[in-house]
Amino acid sequence: MQDYLDQAAKNGVVILPNGRCQCCGADYERGIAECIDTFNSIELVQAQTIENLPARFLRVDAHALQHPEIHGRWSNHFHLTRLHLILKKNIVWNYKLSPLLSKHINAYKLTRPDEYLIPPPLMRRGNMTSLDILKASQSVECSELIFAWANEVYEAWNAGAGVAAYLADGFRPSIPSGVRHLDAGH
Ligand SMILES: [Zn+2]
Repeated sequence: MQDYLDQAAKNGVVILPNGRCQCCGADYERGIAECIDTFNSIELVQAQTIENLPARFLRVDAHALQHPEIHGRWSNHFHLTRLHLILKKNIVWNYKLSPLLSKHINAYKLTRPDEYLIPPPLMRRGNMTSLDILKASQSVECSELIFAWANEVYEAWNAGAGVAAYLADGFRPSIPSGVRHLDAGH
C-alpha cells in the first residue's frame, strides 16, 4: 500500500483514508484503497471467449488511466495505446501482445525521454468506475459495460489520443498475422 501512497505524493496528491476515491470519484467509504481492493476482487464470470477476451485488458487499462497518480508516467502511454488498439482498431487483444507493446513503447521512450501525457482532472475521467464493473461482473452484459467504461476513459484522455494513435500505428506491423479483429459493433 505504501508504494502507491508514495507515488501519489510524488504526483502531488495526498491520499485521504476515507470518502470517495479521489482519482476516479467512485462513491466509496475508504477512498482509493477501497477502489483498488474492489478492482482487485472483481472476478468476471463471463466466459473467456475470443470476443470477451479484450474486455479483460480494457478493465485494467480503464482503471489504470483513472488512477494515473499511483503509476509511473509511462504506464499511461501503454494503457492509452492499448485502449486505442482495442477500441479504435478492433484488435482482439491477447496475453502475448502486451509484452510486445511494452517493447515498442520502451523504444519510443528513448526518443522522447521527457514526454508526459497530462491526465484529465481528478474525478473527471469518465462517469463509470470500478463500482459499475463490480455490479456488472456477474452479468452476461459485463463485456459491453467494460467497453463502455473504457470508451469513457479514452474520451476523457483525448489530449493524449494523438500520441496513442501514433504509437498504435507504429505497433500494428508487429502484431502477428493470426490476431483477429473484432467485427464492427464494439
Ligand atoms: Zn478510483
